[in-house]
Amino acid sequence: MARYDLAAAAASLTRTPLGRRAHDLWRFRELLPVRREEFIVSLGERPSPILDLPRVNEQIGVAALHCKDEAALPGGSFKARGAAVGLSRARELGVHSFAMPTNGNAGSAWALYAARAGMQATIAMPVQTPAVHRMQCALAGAKVTLVRGTISDAGRVIARAVAASGIYDASTLKEPYRIEGKKTLGFEIAEQFAWDLPDAILYPTGGGVGLIGVHKAFLELHALGLLGPRLPRFFAVQSTGCAPIVEAWRSGRDASEAWHAPATVAFGINVPKAIGDFIVLRIVRETGGGAIAVDDARILEYQHMLVEREGVLACPEGGATLAALAQARRDGTIGAHERVLIINTGSGAQYPDVPYPALQTIEADDGTQLPAHL
Ligand SMILES: *Cc1c(COP(=O)(O)O)cnc(C)c1O
Repeated sequence: MARYDLAAAAASLTRTPLGRRAHDLWRFRELLPVRREEFIVSLGERPSPILDLPRVNEQIGVAALHCKDEAALPGGSFKARGAAVGLSRARELGVHSFAMPTNGNAGSAWALYAARAGMQATIAMPVQTPAVHRMQCALAGAKVTLVRGTISDAGRVIARAVAASGIYDASTLKEPYRIEGKKTLGFEIAEQFAWDLPDAILYPTGGGVGLIGVHKAFLELHALGLLGPRLPRFFAVQSTGCAPIVEAWRSGRDASEAWHAPATVAFGINVPKAIGDFIVLRIVRETGGGAIAVDDARILEYQHMLVEREGVLACPEGGATLAALAQARRDGTIGAHERVLIINTGSGAQYPDVPYPALQTIEADDGTQLPAHL
């Protein structure tokens, strides 16, 4: 993992000068791997909002409930963070083309940033990846291969291509910089919570990079003296259709076993075996958190609740975190006194195929009678 000169960073990264810096992805640049600004590839990222969820919380019942909403990032998900930083660093290292597997959102983000930088992206994705992502990657000029199988199968295709051609491997946790980009999520949370972190964070966990990144961000900010020693309890949320980390957590293991026949509407967390599973498990254990699985029906129910009651156009993965919180409240894992943050990792607009309430069609208005529901 990337390490920084924290003593030097502590000198320039203090609260007051930070207050004068631009609100962009590179606000905590001393803790990011790109050395020279001219290599930064930007699509104008801004800090994502933290929204309170008062109407949803009437039902959930915690001391405070917030959502970090990543929907507006380029490409429609928090994957933009890893792409912006990982790709900028690759560019600084002289890379012009790279290869990676994806379940959709990461591919979209990396393809867009590659287009921005004039780099060539080679992407393998499961044939079932939603059309939105196939479209975004193809439009952005990536070389896309559809694989009959899961993201792990796509990963094996990329590993072979990398071995054969020597192309830069941008796969999750195969290069150390993508996770550095995910840290920006943690930096923003710390600053937006005025350096007083919530008690619990629920994160929809696929490869686990986001959770690991947020945790690393907090540790580094602590080392800099910007945060106290108390960390939030981290909860990894998965679907019962693909819950290797939850299964490992329940049986007290340090690493997960590959999930057989994974399937969930929340395709961003449809990862049968995460390379960094042991790090995720260590973090949830050390912070007194846990791992929670919720089924797809609940995921869709709570996704809908976020949209309907709060206007947050959540993705199913975001819905999963709320469903997991409801479950954790019911069984007492999370208490009524806790301040809780859920992460909505992407936009619901990326998932046009989720079920939604039936709509009524009428004939063009002839000026006579309006339909009953109007
Ligand atoms: C990739 C993804 C996740 C999972 O993130 P990891 O960092 O791989 O655990 C969650 N939600 C969405 C929308 C994603 O695209």
